Amino acid sequence: MREAIVIGGGITGLSAAYEFVMAGAHPTLIDPSPRLGGVIQTGVVEGCVLEEGPDSFLTAKPAAAELIREIGLGGELISSNDHARVTYLVKGGRLVAMPDGLMMMIPTKVLPVAVSPLLSWSTKFRMGFEYFRRPPAGTPPDRTVADFIREHYGQETVDYLAEPLLSGVYGGSVERLSVNSVLPRFVELERKHGSLTRGVLAARAARRGHATQEEPLFQTLRGGLAQLTAALEKIVRPAAEVIEGRVEAAERAGGHYRVRVNGEWLETRNVIGACPAWAMGDLLGPVHAELGALLRGIDYSSSLTLALGYRAADCGPLPPGFGFLVPARERRILTACTFVGAKFPNRVPESHVVLRCFLGGAGQEHVLDLDDGAIVEAVQEDLRLLLGWRSEPAFTRIARWRRSMAQYEVGHAARIERMERILAALPGLFLAGNAYSGIGIPDCVRTGRAAACAALSRR
Ligand SMILES: Cc1cc2nc3c(=O)[nH]c(=O)nc-3n(C[C@H](O)[C@H](O)[C@H](O)COP(=O)(O)OP(=O)(O)OC[C@H]3O[C@@H](n4cnc5c(N)ncnc54)[C@H](O)[C@@H]3O)c2cc1C
Repeated sequence: MREAIVIGGGITGLSAAYEFVMAGAHPTLIDPSPRLGGVIQTGVVEGCVLEEGPDSFLTAKPAAAELIREIGLGGELISSNDHARVTYLVKGGRLVAMPDGLMMMIPTKVLPVAVSPLLSWSTKFRMGFEYFRRPPAGTPPDRTVADFIREHYGQETVDYLAEPLLSGVYGGSVERLSVNSVLPRFVELERKHGSLTRGVLAARAARRGHATQEEPLFQTLRGGLAQLTAALEKIVRPAAEVIEGRVEAAERAGGHYRVRVNGEWLETRNVIGACPAWAMGDLLGPVHAELGALLRGIDYSSSLTLALGYRAADCGPLPPGFGFLVPARERRILTACTFVGAKFPNRVPESHVVLRCFLGGAGQEHVLDLDDGAIVEAVQEDLRLLLGWRSEPAFTRIARWRRSMAQYEVGHAARIERMERILAALPGLFLAGNAYSGIGIPDCVRTGRAAACAALSRR
């Protein structure tokens, strides 16, 4: 009988397998792809480091950087060029710099917001009056992000800040995402202060005088994030059994589990579900019908990244900054675009310019069905309009990520609570990944390792 089977070889499954191996165990890791890493895939073309999936992680959540240091890659960590951080939003077909002093959609400085053409005067006045909001009586129920922000700052703030900022992270619709799960800090500010603006200013005032070292916003690895997954794979492979295949079925048999892969049943004391919730839901339906349905009920969005590489000599300058976001109201095919060479050092040689474009997300999934030529052509048209960019790319690279980003919709927290109660009665079964308590790489590392630790504690 195996001690543990880890289903899924993305960063979550690799983190779980690593934890087992470090504890002297010999887990079995199963993934259909010969290339482990899941959506973390890095390529190098003409000296440019191209991330096909994620390109970095938030430093505010330490689990990823901790793991990177633990496996000896600390020297490879690089930070975002925050001194050059300007993000643009598209309004009326033009790039408008996000005003200084906005904490996501919360205004904390009067002048930069007042003079910015991003928002109308009526929204600016509304933002000012928000300062006088009183705390709610009692605890409001979970709401959509759109309802919450609309209530505080109005519809235009939803359209030109909340929607583009959050669709960049979740590829989801603010009209469905849960404020309690996606912006819990904002909900807490509302509970305590009523006004989000007053809450942020009060938190800042409280921090003043406590010297804190300014952390970079994002970190990544010099050679791309696949350096992390490749290093984990190198540690895991000698001690683990890695099976190339898709888990087809799972069963509970007495106090343990059986999973079928490549037609063969394997018995194990512990199962770590580190594949998407919809896949795990299909597998667990026969083990526990309600758990299977709860997992399948977590919606996922699909997205696409397109890297466009240009010879620098062929193109004009880019505006200074990290890139731009395109609100859905602007009706372009692009949802966001990163100027790769500006965001991180050492990614793009001086001879090149790389634009990393995002497409798809909630309501725009049909884009993934277009052929590559049509996608490149439509994006080039957007770039002509938004940047006046007429150059022909020297290379292009497209990655389609179907059903890869979990959506934390209204009621998500209650769903997770119910799932946890069910799991408590199914010892040896653990879930980890981006569908439960955080969407980013650090959350995946944290939940993957925690699931393995919980399984190891059953020894
Ligand atoms: C385009 C894009 C950009 C992103 N950008 C960022 C970013 O910049 N920063 C950040 O922190 N996060 C970002 N994210 C989110 C983050 O990358 C993911 O949440 C995280 O990498 C998910 O890792 P995972 O291992 O849980 O899932 P995945 O990487 O999806 O891996 C799951 C694995 O399970 C396997 N699998 C599925 N079904 C089965 C089965 N039946 N049997 C066995 N294996 C199975 C799949 O083949 C896959 O390899 C981004 C995501 C995407 C898609």
